[in-house]
Amino acid sequence: MALRVERVAPNTWGVFDGWRLVSNKLSSRDLAERALERLTREQAGRLRPCLRCGVEIQSSHAGHRMCDGCRQWVASQDHRMVL
Ligand SMILES: [Zn+2]
Repeated sequence: MALRVERVAPNTWGVFDGWRLVSNKLSSRDLAERALERLTREQAGRLRPCLRCGVEIQSSHAGHRMCDGCRQWVASQDHRMVL
């Protein structure tokens, strides 16, 4: 879901996710655009597609790029290669 900036009143702007306001109400479009960038970065940092199957996962750190099922699968493959 892409975030977007919308004007909610003559001098009030906000960042929306669908129909939900996800920022504070801001007094200029400039402030809202900055809030949009920050929120987009935050969203991208939290949810990543799994490298193997593409399911969205909560990423706790930069090296965490696969879902639990795929991590187990990869671990089992590594084990087989060791054998
Ligand atoms: Zn996966």
